[in-house]
Amino acid sequence: MRNSREIKVGSIFLGGKNEVAVQSMCSSKTGDIKRTLSQIHQLQEKGAKIIRIAVDNKEDVKSLKEIRKETDANLSVDLQENYVLAKDVAPYVQKIRYNPGHLYHIEKEKSVKDKVKELVQIAGENDCAIRIGVNFGSLDPSLRKNGENSGDIAIKSASEHVEIMESLGFKDYLVSLKSSDPYGVIKINEQFSKLYPFVPLHLGVTEAGMLPMGEIKSRVAMEYLLSKGIGDTLRVSLTVPFDEKYQEIAVGNQIIEDVKNGKFLPKDAYKTTGLNIISCPSCSRVQTDKLVDLAKSIKEATSFAKDESFTIAVMGCRVNGPGESDDADIGVWCAPNFVNLKVRGNLQGSFSYDEIVNVVVKELRNLINE
Ligand code: SF4
Repeated sequence: MRNSREIKVGSIFLGGKNEVAVQSMCSSKTGDIKRTLSQIHQLQEKGAKIIRIAVDNKEDVKSLKEIRKETDANLSVDLQENYVLAKDVAPYVQKIRYNPGHLYHIEKEKSVKDKVKELVQIAGENDCAIRIGVNFGSLDPSLRKNGENSGDIAIKSASEHVEIMESLGFKDYLVSLKSSDPYGVIKINEQFSKLYPFVPLHLGVTEAGMLPMGEIKSRVAMEYLLSKGIGDTLRVSLTVPFDEKYQEIAVGNQIIEDVKNGKFLPKDAYKTTGLNIISCPSCSRVQTDKLVDLAKSIKEATSFAKDESFTIAVMGCRVNGPGESDDADIGVWCAPNFVNLKVRGNLQGSFSYDEIVNVVVKELRNLINE
């Protein structure tokens, strides 16, 4: 059994011999304090041990301060493109998540090492843990080389940041390596855990999508990894309506329980062939409140092609939208009044919410007829 380093995240410990902790992320706008608090309560009631919130600007920071006053939940802040907000949010949270693929957006003259150094100092001063969150949909562009596969780049990126943490003597960190392909998640997490057995791991299949497939994909990766002793915390990422966000926690806890009891998915429950629809779980950054309906409509309208082996990505914003669309046959990502469309990595333009489903169907028919 793997024995990772124990780290503290607010009132809980992760890694070492501790129970695997289930976590989730709010899908509400962080600025909507009431709605965010209601989702935090919904998730806590189901047993969430850590709850992540996106913070992208000073207004979000103000909202976070108010949210903090009303909850004792272990909060994690998700910093994507604006890492400099870390110093403002750290006093109110127990964990900071940064994505190595998004550190380049601002202060381009500063080295990655210096940026991480700053994050580490802030985390240390505020008793926060750090998650290095590597995602196939938003890999560090400076590591992308022609022909290199996403898994290798993800490992390289995570390793680079682990080495920085270790060189700085900072120990309260963990790593996540996420992909929308469950077998990709298995491969990179197994590989990484051999390279760095002491680093706690946060497991997740990103954009696992709607139920029941979102659960099945998560189970494929998590059942395997947990049964090998790999994984210290996990998030099941589901495209579900606001009121059903608790399902992420319920499913996560059930997976852990089932693995303990030796209960696994039947071998034929997940096929790597046939139409694969990935969709994001939504968060504060989502550009529309129609995301769940859009994902459902695309799923229904493309069901005629369920046996065709194509991937369609339905994403809520541009953070992971363009990247996931590059890896899909057809990818859409939302803007407030239109939806962007890529086919095989080529931007086709933007379409209204009323027309996008028909356009996706047309493009899918074209791919089938090619
Ligand atoms: S794609 Fe955008 S909206 Fe969807 S979960 Fe990622 S950051 Fe949030």
